[in-house]
Amino acid sequence: MTLRDKMHQELQLKTLFDQAKGYAYDYAEAAEQRNVFPSTQAITDLERFVEVLPTQSGDASTILHQLHEYGSPASVAQTGGRYFGFVNGGILPITLATKWLTDFWDQNAALYVMSPISARLEEICEGWLKEIFGLPDETAASFVSGTSTAIVCGLAAARYRLLLNQGWDFNRQGHNGAPPLRILAQRETHSAVVKAIALLGFGLDNIEWVDCDAQGRIIPEKLPELDSTCIVLLQAGNVNSGAFDPFEVICRRANAAGAWVHIDGAFGLWAAGSERLKHLTGGIQGAHSWSVDGHKTLNTPYDSGISLCRDREALVAALQASGAYIMYSENRDGMLYTPEMSRRARAVELWAALKYLGREGIDELIYGLHQRARQFAEELSAAGFDIVNEVVFNQVVVSASEQDAETQLILEEIQASGECWVGGSVWQGRKVIRISVCSWVTSAEDVSRSVAAFLAARHQACGK
Ligand SMILES: *Cc1c(COP(=O)(O)O)cnc(C)c1O
Repeated sequence: MTLRDKMHQELQLKTLFDQAKGYAYDYAEAAEQRNVFPSTQAITDLERFVEVLPTQSGDASTILHQLHEYGSPASVAQTGGRYFGFVNGGILPITLATKWLTDFWDQNAALYVMSPISARLEEICEGWLKEIFGLPDETAASFVSGTSTAIVCGLAAARYRLLLNQGWDFNRQGHNGAPPLRILAQRETHSAVVKAIALLGFGLDNIEWVDCDAQGRIIPEKLPELDSTCIVLLQAGNVNSGAFDPFEVICRRANAAGAWVHIDGAFGLWAAGSERLKHLTGGIQGAHSWSVDGHKTLNTPYDSGISLCRDREALVAALQASGAYIMYSENRDGMLYTPEMSRRARAVELWAALKYLGREGIDELIYGLHQRARQFAEELSAAGFDIVNEVVFNQVVVSASEQDAETQLILEEIQASGECWVGGSVWQGRKVIRISVCSWVTSAEDVSRSVAAFLAARHQACGK
């Protein structure tokens, strides 16, 4: 049989897909029971993937079997209720099902003519997102891999506009001899923002750092005089404390000076979707660009990032591409708004999430994450752990001991227990354990069970 015949048969018989479906269901069932982080055995078994590049075409069913046998156990059970690492969101069932269906579509979302359905849903998502976040009508959305790329889009647009205002066409004239721009970032800025600054060639040494308070919020009085060469970087949701900057006062000053404000709200921008939390995002509409993820707070599948920019012209100009074969149309061509050309149609899952949840569901999801975080803080505090941050959103920063070494030991014990997974960080010079409640699955019982794991780990590590 030729390779082509073999693949046709796989498509027609569909047993391969049934096999995958069966494994997926097994996985979902087992994930709730097993260690959140893979066992030592599962990690050791990854060696089985090490081999020389095969010479001949393999058997599809065997390959899939190998992946399930040795790959599934070596994955992190992030879709369960007791994963609190980084800020990694869960996955809504409707978006998972949507992803399965649309995997069969295998759309390229670059141009309207490549995928009318993707182009249309991008447009619809753009409108809905503006409504949820309360952003100006003229705001354009880009659907990218994550917030890291979304920040690059926002800063590229900022650079293009601020330089053009000074008569400098960055696309044509480039860096050499360009009028200097000032980058002002608050001290607790996320590393993804710092990366974007370096990547775009602004130079890390040129950042004017602005001091923050103990929660990681920028102190407006510390912001120097602004002018029309300034790009100000603010944050909705500090990656450790979850803190939100005071947007209104800073955006007002920036706008008066002709400066550009970018707000990185990877997970925190979603606070705007909850009646009881939206005060945290007050004043964000005064900024010029925003970055946010679908794959964190909203619980869409990976990967799903969104760049929002009120200056559509600057965004499109900054990300422009050209090629004689490209067929721009009357309709939305997604690639005008993204650094990439070929791109998966991730807006379809985003659309499904928003349509499924509706305003009330979004509120319930987001406020639920906050409630679980509060519960975590209360139960840990009652058990003698020190909660270092104000739990304003979904993040809890915990110090387990006066001594950093002890906190580290306790952290390692918790991770090794397999009961839950939390990460570590350094906050205000102190070793801390950070908890991010980011999945719809997490229940009150999951939180209590995880708190019990904290207690057992402390006992194990320090006999207390
Ligand atoms: C996660 C995160 C990022 C990076 O987002 P990716 O989607 O991982 O690229 C940037 N900023 C903040 C505050 C984040 O939490």
